[in-house]
Amino acid sequence: MKTESKQVVVIAAGPAGLAAAIAAVENGVDAKEVIILEKTKMTGGTANMGMGPLGIETRQQREGMMGVTREKAFRQFMTYTHWRSDSLLVKKYIDKSADTIEWLEGMGVKFVPSKFYEESEPTWHYVIPDEGRPGPRAAGTMTRRMTERADEMGIQILLETWATGLRKEDGKITGVYATNAAGEELLFECKAAIIATGGFASDHDMMKKYTGYTYGVDIFSYEGDALTGDGIKMAWEAGAGKTEMHMELNYRIPDNMNFFSIDAVMRQPNLMVNLFGERFYDEGQLGNGTFTTNAIDQQKDRKCWIIMDESIKKRYEKKGLDLISMVHGADIMDIFDKDVESAIASNYKYFVKADTIEELCEKTGIDQAGLEETLETYNHDCEGGRDTLFNKDYRYMKAVKKAPYYAACFCVAAYGSLGGIKVNHKLEVITQEFEPIPGLYGAGTDVCSIYGDSYVFQLPGNTMGFALNSGRMAGESAADYVSAEE
Ligand SMILES: Cc1cc2nc3c(=O)[nH]c(=O)nc-3n(C[C@H](O)[C@H](O)[C@H](O)COP(=O)(O)OP(=O)(O)OC[C@H]3O[C@@H](n4cnc5c(N)ncnc54)[C@H](O)[C@@H]3O)c2cc1C
Repeated sequence: MKTESKQVVVIAAGPAGLAAAIAAVENGVDAKEVIILEKTKMTGGTANMGMGPLGIETRQQREGMMGVTREKAFRQFMTYTHWRSDSLLVKKYIDKSADTIEWLEGMGVKFVPSKFYEESEPTWHYVIPDEGRPGPRAAGTMTRRMTERADEMGIQILLETWATGLRKEDGKITGVYATNAAGEELLFECKAAIIATGGFASDHDMMKKYTGYTYGVDIFSYEGDALTGDGIKMAWEAGAGKTEMHMELNYRIPDNMNFFSIDAVMRQPNLMVNLFGERFYDEGQLGNGTFTTNAIDQQKDRKCWIIMDESIKKRYEKKGLDLISMVHGADIMDIFDKDVESAIASNYKYFVKADTIEELCEKTGIDQAGLEETLETYNHDCEGGRDTLFNKDYRYMKAVKKAPYYAACFCVAAYGSLGGIKVNHKLEVITQEFEPIPGLYGAGTDVCSIYGDSYVFQLPGNTMGFALNSGRMAGESAADYVSAEE
């Protein structure tokens, strides 16, 4: 077996791994003594699909006279999770987040703070990409800058090289086993290893076992094929404790990237029903992906239909959508008709256009008697301007009366997984009995169990924010450990 010696081995080059490696060097480890092993052909991980991380009390927020204080954010976070979260870790993460935004600015990343939805706090710092407008994948510019910084510092990044296990001797981590695309078996001896492999969203057996969802049946997550829980499994094998494991839920129409405008135009606060034709949610809250998905999750087949009529569509064409999002852009109506045509031509089963309510129910499987009863009350409430069921904001009370009708099926989905490896607030990996495993650290999704059972969406940018900040903290802790061992 080919063997190399390093002081710190960072397992994976997503935002958490990149942040950890850079921080380790900034905190005193010689760059030549730090190596990053990355399974795929590129750095950046899932963050390459995203838009930006959380920041609290940042310069950008002050300049825009917006934001939330650290104290308020912490209180919100802990109240939301009922304090079923590591309070010290949450506090450190929130307190560090503004410094991390500045740290990234120092690498040349530019940010604009924003809310994700009306009731959320403007903690989301979306990245201004090198090309085009901020939107999906903008954070790829951030991970590129981080990779450049790691390169400039002299940190070696081995692509297409994946960690397969940890070497533990006398209770301490002393090495990382790996394999590369050429099929070579490698051992990187080290003083400290930092695991940041992004969770288990691509391992559908793990997902089923630990969260109960069946991929492609009742959950449709975004993932590449690299997130197979490798870091979690190797940490457990080395004695790490286990945490609660969840999915970072959101909702969407399956295969939404091919029907992008349908997803955007139909996820508006219009009539939303379950398969019984009943309303079950205040559609005015659709912007909060966590709450909406939790509600969809409770319905039969974990799905629902949102219905729009021709008058609403015409209104959107003239005045724009009710809920605007940075993700979809303001000009999305321009491509809606084309996407509708292609959805119908390809028999896409999650979107329906119908001339009558009867036809709509036949095509969607919604109970017709139930929907007709709901429509009677709902349309009556829309005329009166008051939702007598859930008190939805009157601005969104638009009757569904004029054919053709459009309906899209929204299902439970996920940005990724959450949690697995037990850590303390220093990002040291700990056993079930809270004993640190010397030389082992974790960061990002693999250790992200701070939300309890539901992602904290009202402080948006949270998972990428946690990945970056926990990565930095893990790198700092590993650097302290290495220097104490010398
Ligand atoms: C479409 C989409 C949009 C998103 N947008 C946002 C957003 O705007 N804001 C936000 O806060 N969050 C967002 N997220 C979530 C965010 O991207 C993740 O929380 C974040 O990337 C997690 O970082 P990580 O470093 O822990 O893991 P990842 O970014 O998932 O990186 C994990 C890395 O580990 C590598 N790896 C796996 N196994 C091994 C192994 N054995 N050896 C070596 N390497 C390995 C993988 O190849 C990958 O590069 C989004 C997610 C998706 C899917």
